[in-house]
Formats: sequence, structure tokens, C-alpha cells
Amino acid sequence: MAEKRDHIIVVGAGAAGLMAARELASGGRKVTLLEARERCGGRIHPLAESTFGYRADAGAEFIHGEAPVTTRLLAEAGLSAQPIEGERWHVENGVLSRRDPADRQMELLHRVLATIEQDLTVTALLDRHFAGQEFAGLRASVLGMVQGYDAADPDRASVFALREEWMGGERGGQARIVGGYGLLLDHLVAECRARGVSFAFQSVVTAIESTDDGVDVRCADGRAHRGDVVILTVPLPLLRGLALPSSMHRQVAAAADIGYGNVIKLLLRFERRWWTAMPDHDLSDMLFLLSNAEVPVWWTQHPRDDAVLTGWLAGPPTGRFAALDETMLIETGLAALAGIFAKPVTVLRQELAAARAFDWSKDPFARGAYSYATLATRGAQDVLTDWDGGPVLISGEALYRGRDIGTVEAALASGLATARHVLAR
Ligand SMILES: Cc1cc2nc3c(=O)[nH]c(=O)nc-3n(C[C@H](O)[C@H](O)[C@H](O)COP(=O)(O)OP(=O)(O)OC[C@H]3O[C@@H](n4cnc5c(N)ncnc54)[C@H](O)[C@@H]3O)c2cc1C
Repeated sequence: MAEKRDHIIVVGAGAAGLMAARELASGGRKVTLLEARERCGGRIHPLAESTFGYRADAGAEFIHGEAPVTTRLLAEAGLSAQPIEGERWHVENGVLSRRDPADRQMELLHRVLATIEQDLTVTALLDRHFAGQEFAGLRASVLGMVQGYDAADPDRASVFALREEWMGGERGGQARIVGGYGLLLDHLVAECRARGVSFAFQSVVTAIESTDDGVDVRCADGRAHRGDVVILTVPLPLLRGLALPSSMHRQVAAAADIGYGNVIKLLLRFERRWWTAMPDHDLSDMLFLLSNAEVPVWWTQHPRDDAVLTGWLAGPPTGRFAALDETMLIETGLAALAGIFAKPVTVLRQELAAARAFDWSKDPFARGAYSYATLATRGAQDVLTDWDGGPVLISGEALYRGRDIGTVEAALASGLATARHVLAR
């Protein structure tokens, strides 16, 4: 008699889902991947090469820190990562400079952080230790990092987690995959297909029910799939919209204790790299540009010479732009650049060759960009990964216990750990 193979249903073909599916299929399981969209990748979203001249990333773009799982995948795929290089420019009162205005006070921030014994929110930290007028620059800089980098709400973000991120010792810098995240995605998808994973796109899962002999997964279009185990990798805010077995209510409630922030990412391609020919500065080495403009952070593709500027607005300030459509967001970006570089917006508009804007809070299958740690996050992760033998396991970037929650590495590592747990059962 043929041996029965466990059938594992993975919901979501993002980094976590693909990684889990590949591992499970390699371990001999039958795997079905149900994906709401028509594409794989989720919050990894490479665009067509024709728009920007390369496969620009509308979602994840950088590798943060050592990222061992990502690095292993790159090596097996024959891909490489290039450490980012280039200058970080700052704009203060209309003046461009390589000097970070808050540099002098950063040392003080680190000294204070080193003495903190009980976790507190970033807002509480600033109120308690840096309330004075003399710290206005430092406060702006800390809020800029917390909101801009971690997409976090300072009223909820954990100082312990940020201390680990900022001062946690050697961690490797940032890098970009040569050719973009699309190539890593292509590799993972090809690996899944080669191992027999079956993909069902446009499968919007709405309900999961435990039955006596497994699990039934129902989709919005009426299709249903029966499996032995389900791995759910949807972004955590989407869990509440699913009808899940009542035994999972504690987990769904715990998900609210993990922060989840938004990002608006703008990609503007110009006819030429006009910013390299500013009258007073040579910006040809510019990688990042940090300002207090409405779209405060911009970066280039340096050392590549694509005439593309990427704008970045993250965290609670993105809420101010919720009513804007894509065209209006692009105009907001152009106006921000015009202010930073003291150039007429009409000139920039004439130079514009292609543009896209992505407000990730409006993406129905992401509802935001990525997770961050609150004071209650570690406890919530314990509840969410309490795999008590039940048939539904939750996985994804939010469940990563390491320092870089919210990243592609976090998603890959979480997917891998979940799959290995299922294989070991
Ligand atoms: C703008 C932006 C920039 C970023 N930059 C970086 C960066 O530079 N570096 C970095 O490391 N990380 C970055 N990230 C974060 C990174 O992209 C994510 O942490 C990671 O990709 C999440 O992977 P995941 O598999 O956990 O979730 P997802 O990628 O969200 O995958 C979940 C999948 O589930 C699907 N799904 C949702 N609901 C359903 C449903 N009901 N039924 C079926 N399928 C469903 C979704 O369509 C999606 O494909 C960025 C994210 C954004 C948005």
C-alpha cells in the first residue's frame, strides 16, 4: 500500500511561505501554496525592468545585517550582494552637508541607553531624559530613526529592541542584491516548482476549520482545500479578518501586541542625474539624503548610475497622506525634492521619465509594511509560536526572535523554522 504523505497547505507565497514550502517539499511532504495575489513575493515586489531600467523594488530592497539565511540562499543561487556605499547627506535649514546635525548628542543617547534597566517606549525615554530645548535636534533625529527606519510608532516602540538594533555590537552593514530581490525570489519559486509544490494564485483564504482528520481551508471564490497542517504566513494585521478555529483566539489577540508600521515608497526616474550637478556641492557620491521635508528620506542607486531617486516616508506620519492617490503622492515627492534642492517643481516634472508610488497601507494583502517590537512583543511571539500540536501554525517576519524583526531575513528564517518544526513532528 502506498504510504500516505502529509499534505501541508501554506497560505501566502511571500518570503516565509516560499521558504517553508521549499523545505517541506524537500522533506517529502505534499505542499500546496495558496496565494491571494497573482504573483509571488508579497512584500518583496520587483517591478518590470522596462519602467525604471532595472528591476526596481517597490517593497524590500536592502539586506540588513549578517542575514545568514539570505546569505546562504544567495550563495546557492549563484547571486551576490554588494555592500552599500556612498555618502549620507543631510539638509538642515536649506543647507546640504555631510555632517549629521545630531551627531554630537548621539554619544549621550548611547550613554543613557546603556544604563536603562527596564524597557520603556521611545516617547517615555525622550520625555524622561531628553525633554529640554537643547535636545530638540536629538529628539528629531531619534524620532526620524524610529519612524523612518523601523516604521514604528514612538508611543509603542520598545527601547530595549532599539538598543539591541543600534548598539548590539558587530552586525555587518547593509547590502543590496546585485540584480535586486527579484532574482532571489525567482530562485525560491523555481526551487519550489522543482520540488513539486503546487501554486494556486488568486486564492484569497477566508476561513480555516479544524476537522477530525485535518483542516479545511476555504477561499473567497468558494474553492476549498483539505490538508493535514496549515502554515499561515499572512501579515499579522490580516489574521483578524480570517475565520479561524476558536482554539486560536488567544493567538489572534496576541498579534495586536506586535507593532506593525506603514511605508510610502516613491520611485522617480529622471532623464538624467540632475542632483550630481548642484552649484555648491558635488553630490555624485550621494547614497542617502536625510531632510525634514514632507518626504524626508531619499536614496540613489549609487554606485550604479541609474537616474532614479527613491523617496521614503514611514511610520505614523504616513497617515497624513492617506487620502492621496498615486499621482498626488508623486506630486508630493516632486514638491519635497524641489524644496530640498531649491529647484522649480516644473523643472523636475519636465525631467521626470517614470514614476510610481506605493502606499503599503492600501495594499489589501499587506495593510502596511513591516513589524516592529513593542514592550509586549516578545510575550506575544511566545503565544503565536506556541505550536501545541494543533493543525494551524503561524509564521512570517513578525515572529522572528532575532534583532531584525520586520525584514526579509526574518521572514525566511521564520518560514524555515516553522517548516522544520512540522517535519520534526
Ligand atoms: C516598502 C517596503 C520596504 C521594505 N524594505 C525592506 C528592506 O529593505 N529589507 C528587508 O529585509 N525588508 C524590507 N521590508 C520588509 C520585508 O519585505 C518583509 O518583512 C517580508 O518580505 C515579509 O515576508 P512574509 O513572508 O513574512 O510576508 P509577506 O511578504 O507579506 O507574504 C505574505 C503573503 O500572504 C499573502 N496573503 C495575504 N492575505 C492572504 C489571504 N487571505 N489568502 C492568501 N494569501 C494571502 C500576501 O499576498 C503575501 O504574498 C520592506 C517592506 C516594505 C513594504
